[in-house]
Amino acid sequence: MRAPVTVESNVNLRGYTAFGLGALARRLVRIADASDVRRVVDDPVLGAAPKFILGGGSNVVLTRDIDAVVLKVEVRGRRLVETRDDAYIVEAGAGENWHELVAWTLEQGWPGIENLALIPGTVGAAPVQNIGAYGVELAQRFESLDAVDLMTGRCVTLTRAMCAFDYRDSVFKHALAGKSVITRVRLRLPRPWQPVVSYADLERKIAETGNAQPDAKTIYEWVCAIRRAKLPDPALIGNVGSFFKNPVVSVEQCRDIIGRDPEVVHYPLPDGSVKLAAGWLIDACGWKGKSIGRAGVYEKHSLVLVNRGGASGAEVVTLARAIQESVYGRFGIRLEPEPVVV
Ligand SMILES: Cc1cc2nc3c(=O)[nH]c(=O)nc-3n(C[C@H](O)[C@H](O)[C@H](O)COP(=O)(O)OP(=O)(O)OC[C@H]3O[C@@H](n4cnc5c(N)ncnc54)[C@H](O)[C@@H]3O)c2cc1C
Repeated sequence: MRAPVTVESNVNLRGYTAFGLGALARRLVRIADASDVRRVVDDPVLGAAPKFILGGGSNVVLTRDIDAVVLKVEVRGRRLVETRDDAYIVEAGAGENWHELVAWTLEQGWPGIENLALIPGTVGAAPVQNIGAYGVELAQRFESLDAVDLMTGRCVTLTRAMCAFDYRDSVFKHALAGKSVITRVRLRLPRPWQPVVSYADLERKIAETGNAQPDAKTIYEWVCAIRRAKLPDPALIGNVGSFFKNPVVSVEQCRDIIGRDPEVVHYPLPDGSVKLAAGWLIDACGWKGKSIGRAGVYEKHSLVLVNRGGASGAEVVTLARAIQESVYGRFGIRLEPEPVVV
């Protein structure tokens, strides 16, 4: 006989989300292990109720109270699983802090995820949107993960191919959206280590410092410094990082935009399509530093929407829609939000 599940009632999620929007979780269950998920699934009341999985809340925008049972993932632990000739395999609990994992792997002498330093949130959410920054994506360092199916309570292991990673995308945003709780993630940190410094901001650091062969610790410090200068700290100013994905368009569409706006920031992709800088499009529409109510566009980075203090979810959504409309009106491009809007 399993012990009953502990359910917390009417928990204010303001402190559990990076945007700092007030919303109540009617029922919240803390998940410390895969067995906690199975107990929720087996519970006669909770098992049948809709669920919402919450990690560190850095990529969710809450616009209302949550009636679904909130599963707050707090699975801890990190360890070296295996040393192979070509890689270190490292495992971490889904509730571990991502940035602390990056720092820990470096301290242990297993580099490879230093470009992903300072991305807020938990290890378990990293595969959901295939986090990426400064030329590296999680998918490139991913080995496998364990998850528990919320219908059956069955534990499954997913390989990289099964996760269907893409740009800020994975199977957890499609077929498995809200259906599986990720409990553990394994990373493959390649040996020998190779620096990834082709990203413009890192090339600039090389030029500034004259250090053309930075080690992993130096790249980590550069990435932290660049991010601190550019992005607001959610502990001080509520935000979820980039609010919109960079849109990908055809060469013809890009040519058309360049015809009208020669300065549009764009990056050709290997498949022949072109990625446009969403921040540039928003800037071009005059949104930098503007606000609607208490929700605003960050002064230093137009892709970041911020809570100027006490903003409501409705104000954030109104601002996001107004930006989408003006970008569509001027460029004919529909910006897609990156965070999950609930
Ligand atoms: C200042 C700032 C900068 C950022 N910079 C970047 C960046 O450079 N690159 C980048 O990719 N992202 C960035 N982000 C977005 C965010 O950090 C990532 O999306 C992060 O992975 C979210 O982690 P989380 O634990 O907070 O997830 P949450 O916000 O709690 O959840 C996000 C989604 O994942 C689901 N989820 C969470 N945990 C689990 C789990 N264990 N099992 C199944 N589903 C789960 C949730 O249901 C939700 O759909 C940034 C955010 C901020 C605030």
